[in-house]
Amino acid sequence: MPTEPLLDTYDRVADDLRISVTDRCNFRCVYCMPEEGLDWLNKAKLLTFEEIVRVAAVFVGLGIKTIRLTGGEPTLRRDLPLLVGMLRDIDLNIDLAMTTNGFLLDQLAKPLAEAGLRRINVSVDSLMRHRFSEITRRDALDQVMKGLQAAEAAGLAPIKLNCVVVRGTNDDELVDFARLSRETGYEIRFIEFMPLDADRRWRKEMVVSLSEIVDRIGSSFPLEKINNGVEPATLWRFADGAPGSVGVIPSVSSPFCDSCNRLRITADGQMRTCLFSIVETDLRAIVRRGGTDDDLAEAIKAAVWKKEAGHRINEEDFVRPERSMSMIGG
Ligand code: SAM
Ligand code: SF4
Repeated sequence: MPTEPLLDTYDRVADDLRISVTDRCNFRCVYCMPEEGLDWLNKAKLLTFEEIVRVAAVFVGLGIKTIRLTGGEPTLRRDLPLLVGMLRDIDLNIDLAMTTNGFLLDQLAKPLAEAGLRRINVSVDSLMRHRFSEITRRDALDQVMKGLQAAEAAGLAPIKLNCVVVRGTNDDELVDFARLSRETGYEIRFIEFMPLDADRRWRKEMVVSLSEIVDRIGSSFPLEKINNGVEPATLWRFADGAPGSVGVIPSVSSPFCDSCNRLRITADGQMRTCLFSIVETDLRAIVRRGGTDDDLAEAIKAAVWKKEAGHRINEEDFVRPERSMSMIGG
């Protein structure tokens, strides 16, 4: 039997849970969703707030320290601040964060922060209006920038920007993002493009690797590596002491599976031990058939024990999961 509650057979301990609160989205990013959207889950399939909080409390009892809300676009879930408050009440020490496209943050940043949200990652893939709208298929850069200001004013610091780098699409903006970081103090996280796009257009040649990203930024702004323990992002500060930082999440070129501490729950209550899992554990079924917290804990522990060694993107026998990113919860 494992000695730690959420230990797996490769000696990793899971303490980070991503909860998707909806599969819907108001953007249609080309690297994530098709233009026409997807077949949304009907409401009866979604975990209710009470169900989410019950399951999350079991995870916290098993050692989860960070909960990140995601989706789809999490801010589309009605009454999201209420859910944040309910999650905060499980344990005041939980590191409660959210990943969002930022479109609704100008209205929601303050109520979310007041309800107990601590940190925020906002996805911004271009700093040019026309390109932002080509990537997201929404002309929304100004609105997202307003959202960032509202998040800052609400104290959701440090603000992190997520940028999925796709070769030939936005890789000529790496230095511009680094400059924004220096000017604002925002921490920029470049994410390597992963084969989780619903349109299945991903090709290895479209991935811009960690080393290329760092070299290209470093030739304009020399960088110094920050030792950041087990975080998947490899981080750098500016050598001249300017504010901000850049990081790369090198899922493809330099997978961090050996130290992965993440678990996920989809909006319909399926637990996944990897973004690329091809099996899921149906926690919603346990809740809805009247299972106890011990039943949930046993199912969670058993799933973690079987967590995959890694994602195999770079192997010949790689199999894409059926669900794409917005349906899983990135
Ligand atoms: N809608 C929110 C957003 O965009 O921030 C939250 C959900 S989104 C699925 C979570 C993160 O996954 C975003 O930072 C997004 O850029 C990233 N993402 C989506 N598809 C991706 C892909 N194919 N490869 C790498 N990252 C991806
Ligand atoms: Fe929506 Fe986020 Fe996917 Fe873009 S990345 S389509 S904002 S879920």
